[in-house]
Amino acid sequence: MTGIEYPSRPSNPLDLPGRVNLASPMTVLCDFDGPLVDVSERYYRTYQLSLVDTQAAYEAEGITLPVQELTKQQFWQMKQERVADAEIALRSGLRSRQIEKFLENVHQRVNQPALLQQDQLQPGVRWALALLHARGINLAVVTLRCQMQAQQVLRDYGLDQLFTVIRGAPDELAAYPNYTEAKKQLLAEVLADCSHPPSQTWLVGDTEADVLAGQAQGISTIALTCGIRSVTYLKQLQPTRIHCDLLSAAHYLSGLVCPVEA
Ligand SMILES: [Mg+2]
Repeated sequence: MTGIEYPSRPSNPLDLPGRVNLASPMTVLCDFDGPLVDVSERYYRTYQLSLVDTQAAYEAEGITLPVQELTKQQFWQMKQERVADAEIALRSGLRSRQIEKFLENVHQRVNQPALLQQDQLQPGVRWALALLHARGINLAVVTLRCQMQAQQVLRDYGLDQLFTVIRGAPDELAAYPNYTEAKKQLLAEVLADCSHPPSQTWLVGDTEADVLAGQAQGISTIALTCGIRSVTYLKQLQPTRIHCDLLSAAHYLSGLVCPVEA
């Protein structure tokens, strides 16, 4: 049990159960952070700013910390290998109480509006969604990000109308003691509402939470390596398929509903 509750009656008109077209050949449920949006710059900027803040706090007390800032490549590689934030802080030169201060700072900063603006649409996403939509495939977003935020971002990019369902967390402050359990719960709710045949439903995501949630529901899963987990890590989870990004996955999925003639 996750302690998270989701609204039983979604207020957004896009998020009405029953709008999924059962005659459609396929439904694709897509995670938000990772497959659609690149969060790596936000996470790295958060890391950098929190290091500076921690350093400044100790400097004010006359203590100079031997901080060694990681490059973005080093940082993101660690995130993709699931290196804990405390370990990342340790490898950046911080120790004990300094690490605690750093982690508190990261937690406070990462969802601030100025940093959320660092998020960018992943390359090829517009093409991917257009391709899937043109093939008559139902598209839905299933995310642990705040639902309002996800809707707003997709609206800003002019992509919200492509999705029949956008389902996320009820507010920005939703806490997840266990991401996988939270995703499992949310996915089960969305699938119950959609009632699309599991054999024709795919889940696209970038973490263990996505893959394990899809597997628990008996639907096919595609893990993307453009997000916050490495290909080595994702392989261990044995998703149905692994693709580098949503466009690559979209080409594969569109081929299933509209095979290319030899
Ligand atoms: Mg994700």
